[in-house]
Amino acid sequence: MAAAASRQLFEGLKAYKGRDQHVRLFRPWLNMDRMLRSAMRLCLPSFDKVELLECIRRLVEVDKDWVPDSAGTSLYVRPVFIGNEPSLGVGNPTHALLYVILCPVGSYFSGDALNPVSLLADPSFIRAWVGGVGDCKLGGNYGPTVFVQKEAQKKGCEQVLWLYGPDHQLTEAGTMNIFIFWTYEDGVLELVTPPLDGVILPGVVRQSLLDLARTWGEFRVTERKVTMDKFLRALEDGRIREVFGSGTACQVCPVHRILYQGKHLHIPTMENGPELILRFSKELKEIQVRCLRGGGLDACSPEAFMSEPMD
Ligand SMILES: *Cc1c(COP(=O)(O)O)cnc(C)c1O
Repeated sequence: MAAAASRQLFEGLKAYKGRDQHVRLFRPWLNMDRMLRSAMRLCLPSFDKVELLECIRRLVEVDKDWVPDSAGTSLYVRPVFIGNEPSLGVGNPTHALLYVILCPVGSYFSGDALNPVSLLADPSFIRAWVGGVGDCKLGGNYGPTVFVQKEAQKKGCEQVLWLYGPDHQLTEAGTMNIFIFWTYEDGVLELVTPPLDGVILPGVVRQSLLDLARTWGEFRVTERKVTMDKFLRALEDGRIREVFGSGTACQVCPVHRILYQGKHLHIPTMENGPELILRFSKELKEIQVRCLRGGGLDACSPEAFMSEPMD
């Protein structure tokens, strides 16, 4: 079914068992919002976000014995929405299938270790572009990246640092958003990540790190484009403290090496603690098991960190 293959989108979120043994989802409203935006972009039918979240709640409740509770573990929740039109044309769909699969997952890193990753930054590969669909979690964005991932591995790197534009902007690391903790050229200590300009996937963990860092108020938190040129200059000046990716799978993942224009650049993330990465990691883990909604916010507001118990 050609039309079926042409329309597919997904989401990824996690359910955590709290200290009280109840299961809660991490900021599921943000995933529901993003999933509906993806569906609209593909002209798949609209759906009721509250209703879908209630379906997921029931599913997790039925399968709650599958939610692991040792440190760093969770239940991965993967909603999928596909067009399964019984025809070959690429027209307005009349058939669509929405389903959710669950999978218990262990800790991304073994033990307390945060294993850093190396990235291949090759501007000849482009993940997403302005006017495209890089800001939606569409199946079509991911299949073509496997080839590039293999190229990275051939060159001794674990993942891809996606660059964009003639000025080689840093956009994302593999399927993670990217963050840099550095002293900016004006001498101010800041945490920076690229802005949501259509090329960047609006990650839930990305948003959460920005929210946390802004409540701390200890350094500047900025959404700004970062070019390889500026990055290299900061690296030479010794202004880079930590570089890391963020995403549901790993939460935060340190970067210690970037291969760019034939040169292996050492990033001193691990030498610097990594202080901020460890703090984010600890804070997120605490939020996920502490059995509070977070920040005294409304239970159903997208700003709240944890959902009501699923069971
Ligand atoms: C899913 C994804 C992320 C991370 O999003 P989270 O909601 O934080 O898991 C970042 N970049 C890309 C390209 C992604 O597909």
